[in-house]
Amino acid sequence: MIENKNVLQRYNLPAEIKFCKKCTMSNQRPRITFDEEGVCSACNFSVKKNTVFDWTQRERELVDLCKRYKRTDGGFEVLVSWS
Ligand SMILES: [Zn+2]
Repeated sequence: MIENKNVLQRYNLPAEIKFCKKCTMSNQRPRITFDEEGVCSACNFSVKKNTVFDWTQRERELVDLCKRYKRTDGGFEVLVSWS
């Protein structure tokens, strides 16, 4: 039987609870980190995703990659994605 009395210890939760200044996510979410200004890693990645990444270039790269494997005989094609 699993002992449930000490939840902080069982899930390795921080004793001091902090909240993101932008989205209010707590530091008890697994794998989340906070910067020195109190903004969580998910918010920082969202900003990066919308400002740093060149989505037009990434789309071109995907299309070029798919062209390498595209069938030319008119048969069915399947695209498998994993993350
Ligand atoms: Zn946040």
